[in-house]
Amino acid sequence: MFEHLEKYAGDPIFRLGEAFHQDPRSQKVNLTVGLYYDNEGRIPLLKTVQEAEARRNANPQPRPYLPIEGLASYRSAVQKLLFGANHEVLRSGRVATIQSVGGTGALKVGGDFLHAAYPDSEMWISDPAWDNHFAIFQGAGIKTHTYAYYDPETKALLFDQMLGQLSALPKHSIVLLHPCCHNPTGVDLSPEQWRQLIPVLAAGELIPFLDIAYQGFGAGLQEDAYAVRAMADAGLSFLVANSFSKNFSLYAERCGGLSVVCSSPDETERVLGQLKAIVRRIYSNPPMHGGQVTASVLNDPELYALWEDEVAQMRTRIASVRQKAHEQLSAKLPAYDSRYFVTQRGMFSYTGLSTAQLQALREKHGVYIIDSGRISVPGLNTHNMDYFTDAMASVLRG
Ligand code: PMP
Repeated sequence: MFEHLEKYAGDPIFRLGEAFHQDPRSQKVNLTVGLYYDNEGRIPLLKTVQEAEARRNANPQPRPYLPIEGLASYRSAVQKLLFGANHEVLRSGRVATIQSVGGTGALKVGGDFLHAAYPDSEMWISDPAWDNHFAIFQGAGIKTHTYAYYDPETKALLFDQMLGQLSALPKHSIVLLHPCCHNPTGVDLSPEQWRQLIPVLAAGELIPFLDIAYQGFGAGLQEDAYAVRAMADAGLSFLVANSFSKNFSLYAERCGGLSVVCSSPDETERVLGQLKAIVRRIYSNPPMHGGQVTASVLNDPELYALWEDEVAQMRTRIASVRQKAHEQLSAKLPAYDSRYFVTQRGMFSYTGLSTAQLQALREKHGVYIIDSGRISVPGLNTHNMDYFTDAMASVLRG
């Protein structure tokens, strides 16, 4: 019946991670998938998560279905984290938020929503992008294009080109943007650049779709939400997909949110209703465990403060790894400009290594980097840094 179907080649990132695990060498480095590892190479189980789970276990509860839109306490906590507790868009009831199945689920529901609301709208995604963006939005029936974002020569943002291209888009085009820690390049807009971009989005009547999967990993939980808040301040209507996979280290619990900023409470009610209709026909309602755990941390001032600390520790470790990589590479290979390690932010660095160099790193040194040359920085630590920078220097020398 199904013999005619194509074989699924697998996700290239997960496939390479698998190859890493099967590599029998004892000295090897996994810089593939976007997971935060601590200095010992472990995926952390945050203390605040453990505390929230202990409290939950001490008071076992039945597990009925959650509402289609998710837990109310979770949804309001997501809103406060994104917009700031007292933002006018929240006070005036202009944000429709649902609890989603991870950040990916938020992107999918948002894609279905936009395709139904604006069937002729097409979407513009940064070049380069997180590949799944294309798959998710094309899967929702939206035609995708790219806008200029990153210059491989300078390893910096092509801001003028980006601005020029976005200012020429047809009305109601959808523009996918990363408020912080751009995946895959680690190159972000500065607050000043956001302030220049926002009037362009407004003048073109474009529909911004913000994807924030690394809040807290760039400059801080509040600082990283700058673009979200600046757009809300400017009175734009837009969507935000957020994820707690990384900043709560809760990848498998699938905790995310989709928020749509609207122009009135009436519109907000209509939008929330449509989001619920979409969810009902895909997965009916979200899972409970991760939602309860994250909501109880976010809504408890003491646990929230501890969580902020835990996020700061992850952020600080990433920054120190970046610094170390830059220092060692500058010492070992002075002719190589490794400043990008410190100018880029968040989980990823975009090395610009060639296919042959990536292959040599993999085959000769057991250093696994995905084909785009994107490094997941937290895979580096004080134990493997020397080995990694030696391998890089050896391959770069040719
Ligand atoms: N957006 C971006 C930019 C991401 O990097 C990721 C995770 N790799 C996601 C969304 C999806 O997040 P989640 O794992 O919560 O589905």
